[in-house]
Amino acid sequence: MRSPSIPPPPPIGPRRRRLAALLTALLLPVAALTPGGWPAAAEPGSAAEPGSAAEPGSAAAVSVTATTSSTVRYGQRSRAVRSLQNKLIAAGALGAEDNTGYFGAKTRAAVQRVQRRSHLRATGRVDFATRRAVGRAVRAATGPRTWYHRETVGTSAEGRPILAYRAGEPGRPVVMVVATMHGEENFGQYVARGLLEGRPVTGVDLWVVPVLNPDGLVRDRRWLKGGVDLNRNFPHRFVVRANSGPRATSAKETRVVMRLLDRLQPRYLVSWHQPLIGVDTYGVKDRALLRRLSSNLHIAPRYLDCHGSCHGTMTGWYNARYDGAAITVEYGSTARSLARMKGRDADAVLKAVGGARG
Ligand SMILES: [Zn+2]
Repeated sequence: MRSPSIPPPPPIGPRRRRLAALLTALLLPVAALTPGGWPAAAEPGSAAEPGSAAEPGSAAAVSVTATTSSTVRYGQRSRAVRSLQNKLIAAGALGAEDNTGYFGAKTRAAVQRVQRRSHLRATGRVDFATRRAVGRAVRAATGPRTWYHRETVGTSAEGRPILAYRAGEPGRPVVMVVATMHGEENFGQYVARGLLEGRPVTGVDLWVVPVLNPDGLVRDRRWLKGGVDLNRNFPHRFVVRANSGPRATSAKETRVVMRLLDRLQPRYLVSWHQPLIGVDTYGVKDRALLRRLSSNLHIAPRYLDCHGSCHGTMTGWYNARYDGAAITVEYGSTARSLARMKGRDADAVLKAVGGARG
């Protein structure tokens, strides 16, 4: 127990502030290496941002490389491996379903792919030069950013930031895309990323939450800690089940996205999932939106009734509470290519919700 006689810490002076800034600068890239947001160099449009965390050759990048390259190797299973895999996916060198955390043949082949592209010897080993090549490949696969506003709309149960990005034109209809509500469903975030990169977005006021469940994404698990399924935790037709949480809105992440939706009240809300491959017809509110999404994405309509237990879902709650229409899109179990998800599919969604590219 802390003794009451200890004086309070002195106010932070300029020297301490400089020290704190230096520490932050050194630690930030380390934090960025942990999966759960964008991989260090893969924030949407980050290539267009000077001084981003993973600038090659910066002192911080060197120290991170030196620390982690020795710990990521063939046959290993770790978070560091998954972090590398997320970068390989963001570079288009690995399928998005291969973020297993296990460094096997597929990961090695992806590393070799990047090495060959960079005219390095295709050893499949992750050395310093390879890490830099991966960073360059991610940046090369990252388009200029469309978004002009980024906001931490809340934090996860474990304190990870939940980010929302805004692109498009203020004053136009508000539309929103939410992905990775289930932590193991990582594909939708690449569509989200595609919306935040490329030619400017027009015709809509677009909000994107690429990762609603960052804690689950880190673990590659559907649930929040404690086994709560976010998509059973909303206060609409809520029932107490093993996976629903003890009461509606018990999960922090549920409250975070509800607050954002209450504030913005989008005309369209697209919720991205996998692996059931379909555009959901269950309780559909706007059939025209359903048809546009289905035909633009080449994903057939499908009746996704949660095996008879669509209780406490985000789309159900939103559809009941607001005039706008919420709908679920499910990718399959195998990811489409990064180029497809970020390119054609992102454009397909944008068009379906009334937007375009400038
Ligand atoms: Zn899901």
